[in-house]
Amino acid sequence: MVYAIISDIHANAAALDAVLSDIARRNPDRRICLGDIVGYCADPLETIAKVKAFDVILMGNHDYAVNDKALIDKFNFHARLAIEWTIEQLPDADKQYLAKLPYTHMEGDSTFVHATPRNPEGWGYILNIDDALDAFNYFETRVAFIGHTHHPVVVTDRGHIITDKKITFKENTRYLVNIGSVGQPRDGNPKACYVLYDSDEQTMEYVRVKYSIETTQARMVKAKFQPFLIHRLSEGR
Ligand code: ZN
Repeated sequence: MVYAIISDIHANAAALDAVLSDIARRNPDRRICLGDIVGYCADPLETIAKVKAFDVILMGNHDYAVNDKALIDKFNFHARLAIEWTIEQLPDADKQYLAKLPYTHMEGDSTFVHATPRNPEGWGYILNIDDALDAFNYFETRVAFIGHTHHPVVVTDRGHIITDKKITFKENTRYLVNIGSVGQPRDGNPKACYVLYDSDEQTMEYVRVKYSIETTQARMVKAKFQPFLIHRLSEGR
């Protein structure tokens, strides 16, 4: 079974379109989205409409915040302004759609969740090796795929950190895979990022896709987004 797994699209339609074209060429069996369809960029209607075609769509914290004022209050300045703008754009049907997204999904040898296996509804961050090793206590499958930090990286249950583009999973080893971000990469590479996982071959690959960053930035300028959010897309930060 070949899985295409995407996360953290953040209303960047140009990035999502480029990724969807790449995925279509590869014709995977399953398409899974780990959430954060909205927030940060200016195309939430488009990204919600397109992600709906996926087989599994999970809740991200920005998706959740659309219907939860208390979570917005915890956001940083830029995230808060972007989500408040998003709320003004979305029809009620889209807000209700986001409100009903599930937090986790299990399938085959894999667990899928936006933030952490430990507490999917708490929106905590896995930021270091201790956080990553702790996470293995909270999922039962061999592999867990997560998003949320926008940093593509794989950690094993023995504490090995793997940053290779292509990885073959070894027997008797468990893996925590951060799949990176489609719409706002933060690893210094501005190209959109997603993961292909072949559960028969036990291989996974990070795919980086070039897209028209200028198109996304022009839409953000038109919608009067903060310059910080606009410029960071060019840097991949
Ligand atoms: Zn995100």
